[in-house]
Amino acid sequence: MESTLRRTWSEINLDSLKYNYSKIREKIGENVRFLGVVKADAYGHGSINVAKTLEEAGADYLAVSSIDEAMELRLNGIKMPVLILGHTPKEQVSRLIEYDITQAVTCRAKAVEYSEEAVKIGKTLKIHIKVDTGMSRLGYICEGDYFDNGVKGICEAINMQGLFAEGIFTHFAVSDEEGEENDAYTMHQFKLFREVCEEVERRSGRKFAIKHCANTGAVARFPETYLDMVRPGLLLYGYGEYAKKMGLKPVMTLKTTVSTIKIYPAGTKISYGGIFETDKTTRIGVLPYGYADGFLRSLSNRCSLMTADGLAPVRGKICMDMCMIDITDMPKVEVGSEVEIFGENNPIEELCEIASTIPYELTCAVSKRVPRNYIKDGEIVSKELMLRM
Ligand SMILES: *Cc1c(COP(=O)(O)O)cnc(C)c1O
Repeated sequence: MESTLRRTWSEINLDSLKYNYSKIREKIGENVRFLGVVKADAYGHGSINVAKTLEEAGADYLAVSSIDEAMELRLNGIKMPVLILGHTPKEQVSRLIEYDITQAVTCRAKAVEYSEEAVKIGKTLKIHIKVDTGMSRLGYICEGDYFDNGVKGICEAINMQGLFAEGIFTHFAVSDEEGEENDAYTMHQFKLFREVCEEVERRSGRKFAIKHCANTGAVARFPETYLDMVRPGLLLYGYGEYAKKMGLKPVMTLKTTVSTIKIYPAGTKISYGGIFETDKTTRIGVLPYGYADGFLRSLSNRCSLMTADGLAPVRGKICMDMCMIDITDMPKVEVGSEVEIFGENNPIEELCEIASTIPYELTCAVSKRVPRNYIKDGEIVSKELMLRM
């Protein structure tokens, strides 16, 4: 569905995505596989176009969080290997196999279920074993006293009928946070992961084709963790301090337009709750961008958006569909003028700082009524609006 509105929209620059891929590829070298994380609709960028771009650029693998997200890729013609990082109900095993989707196996109970289902239909499910080395979320616990039991469980899983263990992986909890203690934590996770892999390979006499653990922080900071494949998300989309250090480009720009301009006298309260009161004659622009579009309400009265005349402060509470900016003494800003919410000229990291959040949350928050305009070779090649029409 194509959008007819010129209200609030995002521009997804696939050229920047390709550029980021090639810079990361340069860093990791030709011999390390590249898995692009495209869960949550590619962090709000649109998983199909992101996947197609990565496929063309030469990436090796994709990862999503659920079978629905994996099916979306397959039904839209993506042929690359796809790994589901989260849980899939056992009833879906035949679909996983039919569509050649790789499933993470995170504990004994899941391994047993998946094996039984695969055996029932006489086929083989491709799996990657997940090891919990300190993230304390999914995976076989292998820390301390759990080591032997963890290794045993993994050996049991990779020998189960109907399962083919192509890979094994773990996830870092603090690789993107600097400081000695954090670095030591990551190195401990990495060491434990390698010990688990070695011990499983020794006991089972089998080798994993793909061992992987490096997320954004580790890709940027710990080359020794690359192993057979890296698994960045945020870095690929060009946000955060490590993207900046590597000279990567933010892929998404979010824009809106000024829909109405009003001039109020001093002493006027703006928006719900009247938390902002003008102290002089004030020119206010109304923007069709509110919390239903993904503007965090916690940013009310606290952040600024970029206009042709510089940064304009947001005044008063952010509403569901609108917000107000102060454009006093900004003569270039007129009805219809573009305003950049975040992008090349207004880094998303600044909004994150004010909202005490991370770029992941802001790009994922861009809601489905905001059209995505895709840019390739410098031109808009498609516009997508995800509403039911
Ligand atoms: C989301 C996720 C990633 C990517 O994380 P980034 O910080 O965006 O690089 C990698 N691995 C797993 C298991 C994830 O859930």
